Amino acid sequence: MSRSHNFSAGPATLPLQVIEELQAALPEFKSCQAGIMEISHRSPDFDAVINSAKERFRRLINIPQDYEVLFLQGGASLQFYMLPLNILSPSEKGAYIMTGTWSTKALKEAKRCSESFALWEDSSHKNVPKTISKTNSTYIHYTSNNTIYGTQFLDTPQTDSHLVVDMSSDICSRPVDVSDFDIIYAGAQKNLGPSGVTTIILSPWAIEQSRKNDKERAGGIPSMLNYALMVSKNSMFNTPNTFGIFALERMLAWMEAEGGMESMEQKNKEKARLIYQELDSSEFWVPHASVDSRSLMNITWRIHDTQLESIFLERATKEGLLALKGHRSVGGIRASLYNSCSLESAQKLSEFMKEFRLQNQ
Ligand SMILES: *Cc1c(COP(=O)(O)O)cnc(C)c1O
Repeated sequence: MSRSHNFSAGPATLPLQVIEELQAALPEFKSCQAGIMEISHRSPDFDAVINSAKERFRRLINIPQDYEVLFLQGGASLQFYMLPLNILSPSEKGAYIMTGTWSTKALKEAKRCSESFALWEDSSHKNVPKTISKTNSTYIHYTSNNTIYGTQFLDTPQTDSHLVVDMSSDICSRPVDVSDFDIIYAGAQKNLGPSGVTTIILSPWAIEQSRKNDKERAGGIPSMLNYALMVSKNSMFNTPNTFGIFALERMLAWMEAEGGMESMEQKNKEKARLIYQELDSSEFWVPHASVDSRSLMNITWRIHDTQLESIFLERATKEGLLALKGHRSVGGIRASLYNSCSLESAQKLSEFMKEFRLQNQ
């Protein structure tokens, strides 16, 4: 076996144990006499899978009883449109905190069906706001972790407004109070499993808005984009991504067995500390994010002598440290340290960085 230390930003590394459980379910699942990908989504065996995924998710991050959970397709990118379509009437506004590429895309889609606007902007993308100003909007939308720039909200923004969040790249990485939010959405492929499933958590208010707007919008909300309808169908208005939901269920079981959110947070802090410590040790490195906005999930930096970056990346790959190239829009180096990335991987990376610095500075 030659699996490397994988720092991919997404789809991200998965625990080997989970991969082996998925592998075992492919030819034959339980007493189905068929594999997990080959059974009906209307079967009792699959019902047990999706319901177990929901229960584990509820337990793991303590989702309030009266909130609903959906497992849909289309990625976080579909939520950029689906969310405002369900929540806002055409004359209502969502306020968007603009902290990077994903917020920009979210607002662009929201403007297709609403009067939404940008609330806070900083073109350096090194910071996230510390406070949020009062605003005349139905909700405030933000991106809790900026996957491309490597910044993160350390705390949930305090606001009187309804709060909705794209948590794609830090969901389940630390404890959060779900009742602070009306909608949480996240693609699975960073912290929760393979791509192809989007998790969505809805408050009673969010579901009520969806019902109301379905009545008020001309022609109603298209079925496949209708939160309230999907809730009433247990995410199975049409065929869901059955394998993806099974993988999600196994990932949630793994996180529970690892000790849940407190333990994930502790491990994530330790991994990030190892890398930031090396980055702060010398001018050789140029970390991107301001210290008080640093992400624990995606760490981004340049090398002072940028010509060394391609050599760094090439040598890292040779040493079995994969996928450290920064996003194509910003360049440089990025290490993604999601839940499934082990402490050992972070240790190996920090050792390699130190060695590279000492050889080249
Ligand atoms: C990856 C990512 C997305 C895009 O997710 P898709 O599932 O590819 O649509 C959106 N927002 C954030 C914060 C991300 O990290």
